[in-house]
Amino acid sequence: MNHSDPREEIKGLLREGDLRSLLIQAASLHGHYCPGLAYGVKAGHVGLSRLGLDNTGMEELIAVVECNNCFVDGVQMSTGCSIGNNALVYKDLGKTAVTILSRRTKAALRIVLKPRRWEAETLSDREKEARDLFRRVVKERQDDPEAARRMRELWVELSFETVEKPAEDLFDVHEVPAVFPEYAPIFDSALCSACGEELMETRAALRAGEPTCLACAGEDCFAVLGRGIRILAGGALR
Ligand SMILES: [Zn+2]
Ligand SMILES: [Zn+2]
Repeated sequence: MNHSDPREEIKGLLREGDLRSLLIQAASLHGHYCPGLAYGVKAGHVGLSRLGLDNTGMEELIAVVECNNCFVDGVQMSTGCSIGNNALVYKDLGKTAVTILSRRTKAALRIVLKPRRWEAETLSDREKEARDLFRRVVKERQDDPEAARRMRELWVELSFETVEKPAEDLFDVHEVPAVFPEYAPIFDSALCSACGEELMETRAALRAGEPTCLACAGEDCFAVLGRGIRILAGGALR
């Protein structure tokens, strides 16, 4: 095990185009196989193949995703840009799209799933079956274990097939101007005057002149929910 580059194995898979193995790694994070995850893995491969595979998670590569669905976990695994290393920017636009930017090459690519893909006449019978099962099992939350089992089975098959499809069948890819976000700033810490927990100074409210965390102060805060970025009134999930 080479500790100097923890992404060596993933880089090897990207270099060889072994997206099936990369999909397995992504699914270990994501919890299941699904077409969205496969699109994310594939999009990451498209981007890094053209921008360079190296990524030490120090913001030299940035992925700007435009949704918070399964796609993003595929992107995080294949690009190494994650919410935790500040190299994943989430724009709440509700599109299955990612822009990957390289500070090294000063280049950027926007990769977006072709529109109406799941309504196309060119879908295979299994894709149509998976689409209809998704509507029943996930969207309408029908309690049908056999339908759920069949959907998962199809998702496994379809996601392994998806990562091997030609990228041009799945995505529109464009070079775009490379506009970088600032490097994640490092802020001082403060102690909450009520709960005593440590927090980023910039997140503290003032209560009687004392720094107080938003939770103790009962202030609104932002949260990423299934619906996207939302303000939580009083910090409550309700
Ligand atoms: Zn998924
Ligand atoms: Zn507190």
